[in-house]
Amino acid sequence: MAEGKLIVFSAPSGSGKTTIVRHLLSKPELNLAFSVSATSRPRRPREKHGEHYYFMTISEFKQHIKNGDFLEWEEVYRDNFYGTLKSEVERLWAEGKHVIFDIDVAGGLRIKRKFPDRTLAVFVKPPSVDELKIRLKKRSTESEDKINMRIAKASVELATAPQFDTIIRNYDLDTALQEAYNLVAEYVAAPQPGEEGQPS
Ligand code: 5GP
Repeated sequence: MAEGKLIVFSAPSGSGKTTIVRHLLSKPELNLAFSVSATSRPRRPREKHGEHYYFMTISEFKQHIKNGDFLEWEEVYRDNFYGTLKSEVERLWAEGKHVIFDIDVAGGLRIKRKFPDRTLAVFVKPPSVDELKIRLKKRSTESEDKINMRIAKASVELATAPQFDTIIRNYDLDTALQEAYNLVAEYVAAPQPGEEGQPS
């Protein structure tokens, strides 16, 4: 099976990484495909099974853990499990795509450790924790309790930024989108690991 590259975007919830990932997916020349994660969290109204997530019960999720089906998984928030199925990455590689991930920092770093030579791990940094709170409230997809849980986790997540290959500061969205595009375009254009350069 031809193996492509892996592009990981990780950040605290509300940092804008999903917006950046969507922007990159809209660029056909990058040849990216989104890794749809499995999750046990409830589906939000506009989300579709198989497109945003593979929604499953906690016991189904735990069965996949037992079967060794995950490349990585995390209990990102209490009773909310998220994970990348090995079959998902294999499916997208078989289509000749590079795989892009929108996952939490622990999962992102785990993928980098598993595939160090073919992963670009990007950390998206929000202007501040206060700004995160404002963005999460505006988004209003979560209850006050859940927002506070996400904020509490954000400080811990921010401390992992130096472990990533690169950091994008999302202070101004257009600038962040352009920076992300340039970075990923350069990474996918570079020779695959183990591939010889063409003789000149
Ligand atoms: P949300 O509930 O807002 O969709 O996602 C919550 C957090 O879980 C986000 O930081 C998201 O990136 C992360 N996440 C989504 N899928 C995965 C995954 O497959 N693995 C890990 N480790 N985190 C994930």
